[in-house]
Amino acid sequence: MKLLADTSASLIFLGVLLLILYVALLLVALAYNVVRDARRRSTSIPFAIFAFLLAFVPPFLGALIYLVIRPPRTLAEERSLALEQQILEEPVSGTPETRPCPTCGRDIEEDFVICPYCRTQFARRCTVCERRLRLGWPVCPYCATEVGAHALSAAPPRAPAPH
Ligand SMILES: [Zn+2]
Ligand SMILES: [Zn+2]
Repeated sequence: MKLLADTSASLIFLGVLLLILYVALLLVALAYNVVRDARRRSTSIPFAIFAFLLAFVPPFLGALIYLVIRPPRTLAEERSLALEQQILEEPVSGTPETRPCPTCGRDIEEDFVICPYCRTQFARRCTVCERRLRLGWPVCPYCATEVGAHALSAAPPRAPAPH
């Protein structure tokens, strides 16, 4: 009878021991994942330590709190987002706007005053503010400088259109 009681007592003890071991293992696994997640979201060491402590105190609930307060994006996500932004912004400053030359049809930049391929002049620059003026304008509309009433005859002769 005494032997049977002993056996059941040690069985209960073993059960409790296994349960504690199981819970402890779960906590360690949880803390490991929390710290790994914290490292992926921040390079800050104090933040990783804070996340590690939160994983244990209070048990299990701390990990839930961490889920709420952690940085919303991982560093990898942050990087790809920044890269995406850069790609989106690049065409504005990188490639200049182009249009076809009215005479030869080749791509020329919007800001050109003369076609570098066929030498057709279709605009000129204001001598004061350097902005692009149409050949027919006798006055600069940006700074009101008189640029000559006979703009078309003052400009170099246009190259004859190919026939
Ligand atoms: Zn041209
Ligand atoms: Zn001007």
